[in-house]
Formats: sequence, structure tokens, C-alpha cells
Amino acid sequence: MKLQENFDAIIIGAGINGCGIAAELSRAGNSVVILERGAIGSGTSSKSSRLIHGGLRYLETAKISLVREALRDRMELLSLYPDLVQIKPFYLPLYQSSPRPPWMIGTGLKLYDLLSGKYSEYKSHRISTDEFLDHAPSLSPENLKAAFCYYDGKTDDLELTRRVAAEAHQNGAIIHEHIKIREIISDQSSHLIKTNRGEFTSRVLINSTGPWIDEVNQQFDLPTNYHIRKISGIHIVIDGLLTNDLMFMQTAGKRIFFIIPEPENDRTIIGTTEREESIACDEVSYDDSDIQYLLDSINDYLIPQRQLAVNDVKDVWIGIRPLIAKKNNPTDLSREYALDRHQSGSTTLIHVFGGKLTTFLSLARKTYRLLGNRLPLRR
Ligand SMILES: Cc1cc2nc3c(=O)[nH]c(=O)nc-3n(C[C@H](O)[C@H](O)[C@H](O)COP(=O)(O)OP(=O)(O)OC[C@H]3O[C@@H](n4cnc5c(N)ncnc54)[C@H](O)[C@@H]3O)c2cc1C
Repeated sequence: MKLQENFDAIIIGAGINGCGIAAELSRAGNSVVILERGAIGSGTSSKSSRLIHGGLRYLETAKISLVREALRDRMELLSLYPDLVQIKPFYLPLYQSSPRPPWMIGTGLKLYDLLSGKYSEYKSHRISTDEFLDHAPSLSPENLKAAFCYYDGKTDDLELTRRVAAEAHQNGAIIHEHIKIREIISDQSSHLIKTNRGEFTSRVLINSTGPWIDEVNQQFDLPTNYHIRKISGIHIVIDGLLTNDLMFMQTAGKRIFFIIPEPENDRTIIGTTEREESIACDEVSYDDSDIQYLLDSINDYLIPQRQLAVNDVKDVWIGIRPLIAKKNNPTDLSREYALDRHQSGSTTLIHVFGGKLTTFLSLARKTYRLLGNRLPLRR
């Protein structure tokens, strides 16, 4: 590598969002480099529930535009990556203990169908409890009062991130994995990034470090208008298929969790938990109580012969959702993501706060538009 390289844009972080932005900018002819401290997708983008979804539960808090945007992205991802993103039936049982009545679920699902717009080929519908139990023989028929079927997307998050990174690479983007950033020096004419493998300069710097964003901003003293709240979530993995199809489950306490069978890997993923974290991202870990919470949640609905114990758990992973909060109003968590732009002379810094796996296409395009659609960015 040359001692110093200049790019149209430097992106920090090779998660789905950093790679998506790199693909978008490089497709338009810009020279782009991604600096990633670990491997591509090694952060949150390999710790998700692997769903490409509008987020049914966001309807409860009337986040209609968020759901609509995610459903649009869902349709596009289904056609762009048919081998990696597939539409699947999801089943949603309602037990006596379910906190939401059937009419509410039915109405929410109809709205979800509507928000899928003209693309909605897959309509939700109520099914009989007998039909439901055919799809989920391990779930208990006791106290089951209603069941619904709706459709959403399923993917492999790490493979999707790697694919988008490969696209960026094909467009000419350079991706440096396992690189350590030592210093960021910004003035009115350029950003200079000093690393253990050389120096990089650009007029555009994009900080796409997911849940690490506050720590990066603090370490390199970057200006910012937002903070994040870190919400960790674990998934547990058991051998074999617990159900034939994906299940959207509700706990009596109004929390939700998914049962995600992966026939291709002969395993079932169950998740997730939610806990606010105040320690550094790298120190966040799970404990026995997190695993037990998921086991208790699912055992409430499993027939006696299929009850799960700790030794059935073959793998566990933990990820951190970065929920955005405005600096002057930390309780404003209304947006799914925010692009925080700082202009100084001819240099631009954009922080990517939040953003789901599902919405990386919209987020990347908005980032590009925020840069002024200049082709190439370098003048
Ligand atoms: C439990 C859980 C379940 C989820 N389920 C879903 C789901 O089903 N569907 C969905 O759409 N979304 C889901 N999400 C959200 C989704 O996974 C994330 O929003 C998305 O992966 C974030 O991508 P990102 O690129 O912003 O961040 P990340 O993937 O975390 O990428 C940030 C990258 O920055 C790198 N980095 C950090 N610091 C530095 C540094 N100093 N120098 C260089 N690189 C650095 C990290 O190594 C990392 O690779 C879930 C999230 C969680 C936690």
C-alpha cells in the first residue's frame, strides 16, 4: 500500500450499512475505501434474527412510515438476492395468556398487507387452530384460542453482508479488514485517517460503526448531534427443527420472540431478549439468566415431550441494537435511523445512527443523496 491514499469517500465499519453505502457510492463511480477493525459483517450484522421484515410490532406504536419503507426494501431485496432473501410464511398463535386480542392482531396484519402496497402478493389470513398445529406439532394445543398466517422475509445476515461487500469490491471499492485506526485529523479541506497500515485522506468520511458509534465519536473527538442507547439481544440455537415454519410468539408480558427453523442447517434459532447496556460494546456478554429467559418463554408453549433444557442449547450469540437518541432529548427514540451530517469547509462527515438489516438499501441511497449526488464526489 502507498504511504498515503486519497479517496472520494472513506467509510468506517464493514457491517451491512457500511457495505451498502460503499456499494452505492462506488456504483456511481466514486473511489471508496472501507476501514474495518474486524472481519466483514463481524459486528451486529451477523448477530440479528435474520429477518427481512417491515417490523410488525412497530405498527403498535404507529411507526407507519418506517414499516412502509422497510416493506419496500423487503420487496427489492427479494428480487435482488433471490438466493439469499426468501419470503416465508410466519405463524402467529394466540393463547389465552396473549396480551393482544385476535381482532387487534387481525387488524394489524391487514394494515401490514396494505403497507406492502401493490407488491403485496402474500396476504395474511386467520387459520384454524388445527391447521396451525399441523405447522407446529411441538406447540401445545392447550389454551390456544386463535392463529394467523402472514408473510415476511428470511435471510442469512452474514452472507447478505458479504454479498453486498463483494458488490462494492466489484465496483472498485477497497475493503481493509483487521485494520486499526489510530487518529482522525479533520480540517476544512480533508479528513486524514492514520492507521496501522498507512494513511487515508478524503473530503468525505462516513462513520458506520453500528453500536460502537458513540465510542468511536468519543475516541476521535468527532462532532455529533445524536447518541445511542445500546439494547443487547441474544439468540439461542438448538439442534433439529422445533417447528416446520417460522413462529411469531408473544409472552404474557407483551414481549415477543421468534422461533426460526433453518432446515438448511438442521437447527432452530430462538430469539431474542432485550436489555439496555451501559458498558462498552466489547464488554457486553450474556449470562445464564438470558438463556433461561428464552427457555422459559418457549417452554410455556411447548408440549411436555418437547420441553427444552439448558443442555439443548448448542450455540448462543449476542448483538447490540443501537437505538438513536437526540443529544438534547435522549428519550426521543422515534426514528429507526438518522444520518447526522457535519459540514466544515469542503469536508463532510456523516454518522450513521441505527438502521436495520432490512433497510440498508434506503439508508445507503439517502446517504448518497445527502452527499449531493455528485458524480464523482471528487472534483
Ligand atoms: C438481537 C438483534 C436482532 C436483530 N434482528 C434483526 C432482524 O431480524 N432484521 C433486521 O432487519 N435487523 C435486525 N437487527 C438489526 C440489525 O442487525 C442491525 O441494525 C444492523 O446489522 C446494523 O448494521 P451496521 O452496519 O450499522 O452495524 P454493524 O454490523 O455492527 O457494523 C459496524 C462495524 O463497525 C466496525 N467498527 C466498530 N468500531 C470500529 C473502529 N474503531 N474502526 C473500524 N471499524 C469499527 C465493527 O467491527 C462492525 O463490523 C437486529 C439486531 C439485533 C442486535
